[in-house]
Amino acid sequence: MDKPKCMKKITAGYHRRRCFNDAIRDGYCQVHHPDAMKARMAKRQAAYEERRKTTPWYKLEQAAKRIKQLEAEGVTLRSALTQAEIEVSARADMEYAAGNEWKEANGRGKAAAYRHALILARQMTDEEAP
Ligand SMILES: [Zn+2]
Repeated sequence: MDKPKCMKKITAGYHRRRCFNDAIRDGYCQVHHPDAMKARMAKRQAAYEERRKTTPWYKLEQAAKRIKQLEAEGVTLRSALTQAEIEVSARADMEYAAGNEWKEANGRGKAAAYRHALILARQMTDEEAP
């Protein structure tokens, strides 16, 4: 009796026929066993990916992605900068207002002291007056 043959149906020209190899595992030859075919497919896929990464289209695609990413970062940074500028400007306004308040208060103090000194001087001259 013949050894069992591989059960894989293959296309040979216009005909479909069974593989002529001896079945070694699970009814398949070592070429057509599903695990072997899967492994070959994965290897081919990996090689294809590696080759694809060297193409200008892939590099262009990566560059476009990077540009988009950088543009998004730019938008975030610009909005942070705007926010910082608003805060600085608000702080400058507050300091300016506080400075004015201080000047005003100080000015009022000086004016009050001046008025007081004037009153004292008048009292003194009134007393000295004949
Ligand atoms: Zn086979």
